[in-house]
Amino acid sequence: VKRILTGITTSGTPHLGNYAGAIRPAIEASRQPGSESFYFLADYHSLIKTSDPERVQRSTLEIAATWLAAGLDTDRVWFYRQSDIPEIPELTWLLTCNAGKGLLNRAHAYKAAVDKNVADGEDPDAGVNMGLFMYPVLMAADILMFKAHSVPVGRDQIQHIEMARDIAARFNHQYGEHFTLPEAAIDESVATLPGLDGRKMSKSYDNTIPLFASSAVMKKAIASIVTDSRAPGEPKETEGSALFQLYQAFSTPAEAAAMRDAFAAGIAWGEAKQALFERIEAAVAPMRERYETLIAQPALIEEKLHEGAAKARAIATPFLAEIRHAVGLRRLD
Ligand code: ATP
Repeated sequence: VKRILTGITTSGTPHLGNYAGAIRPAIEASRQPGSESFYFLADYHSLIKTSDPERVQRSTLEIAATWLAAGLDTDRVWFYRQSDIPEIPELTWLLTCNAGKGLLNRAHAYKAAVDKNVADGEDPDAGVNMGLFMYPVLMAADILMFKAHSVPVGRDQIQHIEMARDIAARFNHQYGEHFTLPEAAIDESVATLPGLDGRKMSKSYDNTIPLFASSAVMKKAIASIVTDSRAPGEPKETEGSALFQLYQAFSTPAEAAAMRDAFAAGIAWGEAKQALFERIEAAVAPMRERYETLIAQPALIEEKLHEGAAKARAIATPFLAEIRHAVGLRRLD
């Protein structure tokens, strides 16, 4: 069996990018026979990005409800909240003591923060917490704990998967073969969706279209997508058009081809935005109803998460005992 693992950071309200780029393909993958799926709410990771407790709690509930509303079958998959698995931070420490500092110095996310400080003439470490520096080790623990083979990620995350491999290989070399080396799975058909401002849609950039915004809010958000100043009747470029990319992510190949023709024929931006709204609405409306019901029942969501945690710990607890023993700590039975 092939084990797939994916997490979503609980740092804000889930958006169209999270759905089309992660949740939708993950649910499809979980239905394939011969695979085991591990999908989790990355709440430890969210603390790197936000120190607003209410935001973390709200986001956890929203992301959990989103997975369930989107049709995740919790009997088939391992669906859990990262912080319900105390074995994960413990494994993080065991890996930390075996991960090279030089390796972590090279991590993109950390380096980008330091480079930005330097460019701004600030102290290189200003505002950089140790969580950001250690993030690849926590991510390695997430993956290695469940012996995941395949980690679906965007291109910006490939380096972190390679680091997880490095950390695992180094540990195996030192202590014997305990960890499975993971691979990044890049699905070429899954695009990175742009946000309202044309940059990657991201909770951290405040440029998102929330997946479960009301129809009215969704319509307003779509109206504010940045377009160029071409008038109706003037041919329009699909290349680099945020509007077209979003349209493509929520339509069939035939529908996308028809929209490509409409762009070439000079469709008015208002008309294209209306068409996009209709496509998204068609995809989201049935899920939105389930979402509204779920989000009003936090106790039910908690119950699902508790069940998921028990199922995940049935794997994590004995495996961590094996790792503790391997490094010479007291044996747990
Ligand atoms: P943050 O800003 O907190 O990192 P994010 O919105 O960028 O949040 P993550 O929680 O880091 O999203 O990512 C969760 C999953 O959603 C990942 O698999 C990621 O590849 C996917 N994802 C996030 N943003 C997009 C996007 N714009 N297009 C496609 N997939 C996306």
